[in-house]
Amino acid sequence: MAFVRGLLCRECNAPFDEIPVATCDRCLGPLDVAYDWDAIRRHLNRSVIEQGPPSMWRYRALLPVDPTDSIGDRTGWTPLWHARRLGEVLGHPRVFIKYDGANHPTLSFKDRVVATALAWARRQGMTVVGCASTGNLAHSVAAQAARHGFRAVILVPADLEVGKVAATAVHRPTLITVDGHYDHVNRLCYELAEAYGWGMVNINLRAYYGEGSKTVGYEIAEQMGWQVPDHVIVPMAGGSLITKIHRAFQEFIRLGLVEDKPYRMHGAQAEGCGPIVHAFQRGDDVITPERPRTIVRSLAIGNPADGRYALRTIRQTGGQGVAVSDDEVREGIRLLAETEGVFTEPAGGVVVAAAARLIREGSIRPDESVVLAITGHGLKTLEAVTDVRPPVYGPIRPNLEAFQALWDRIAGT
Ligand SMILES: *Cc1c(COP(=O)(O)O)cnc(C)c1O
Ligand SMILES: [Zn+2]
Repeated sequence: MAFVRGLLCRECNAPFDEIPVATCDRCLGPLDVAYDWDAIRRHLNRSVIEQGPPSMWRYRALLPVDPTDSIGDRTGWTPLWHARRLGEVLGHPRVFIKYDGANHPTLSFKDRVVATALAWARRQGMTVVGCASTGNLAHSVAAQAARHGFRAVILVPADLEVGKVAATAVHRPTLITVDGHYDHVNRLCYELAEAYGWGMVNINLRAYYGEGSKTVGYEIAEQMGWQVPDHVIVPMAGGSLITKIHRAFQEFIRLGLVEDKPYRMHGAQAEGCGPIVHAFQRGDDVITPERPRTIVRSLAIGNPADGRYALRTIRQTGGQGVAVSDDEVREGIRLLAETEGVFTEPAGGVVVAAAARLIREGSIRPDESVVLAITGHGLKTLEAVTDVRPPVYGPIRPNLEAFQALWDRIAGT
């Protein structure tokens, strides 16, 4: 790992070796991967990145990985485009979609964080990996562990969507459902990591896991033409992704890869589980845990591990915290599907609904660019749209007359 210099406590700056531990033993702050920025600056420029592979590994120098690591080799470099038709409906000319539902291999941004965590686990000689998950992480750990020959032990809340459970189970991990919410599952996984020494990607490997999220931010900046957008709207669960996109922009600015300019990071959650947004609205630094009651299962973390850092990111950049209702989420899913041909999961519906509100309220001005982080695919969460699905006609008899009779009735509808 050419440029990594151990770990550093985010709160007290205490240095640590590269260990499978997520928190500082002095102050309980989270540990971050530390880099040799002078060496990176000498090595890295736009053309080095542009000559890299069309995957997250084009940013290898900024990640805790070795040149020989091959885990997640086709993950990332997902599409970003100017969403003109969505923008027309929202009344804003400069809406962009960053679409991580196209990620390899499991259609959510979690493929990025699993790739960096498993690369590290492999180098440490770990053979058993796992996670506590609200669904997408379980799916990604199961798939990537299967491909790279790890044993996977995965724990999820018992009420997950069937699509996410089936998509995970098909890879044959040891998949265990737990009676309770994500926060119960999470606590149990802490104990498993301690008791068995396994690599739980979002628990004791969290420092390496979080680095994978930075690649969403690098890609946004590069795909916007080596420019940071004016606004980014990010769905928040544990609150890591929003802090890491912000960090990615800061690193690019520090390396002179993009111009230093102000931008706003907006965080979005469901009203039925919005502990970070609700703390933002109260003007509070302390997150009050919530009991999730929402169709947005992928964001249903009542006690978010990076909640206070997500809050700090929103406040430091002058962004907003937005909580939306389940009906607004369904409407957001439908809108994105009808205007941009993208079927997203509820987390994406949360982001579209938040964008609609921020534009309506004038928080995003017409000349400013806004990127919507659409982080997962709708095929894993079909139950979110089955109630509001547009009509399907038939069955009709298989002949032209039967079709014409139906068409005469519905053509104008
Ligand atoms: C996990 C997840 C998020 C949020 O991730 P955090 O880093 O925990 O805030 C957003 N969208 C989807 C689809 C996810 O699965
Ligand atoms: Zn510390």
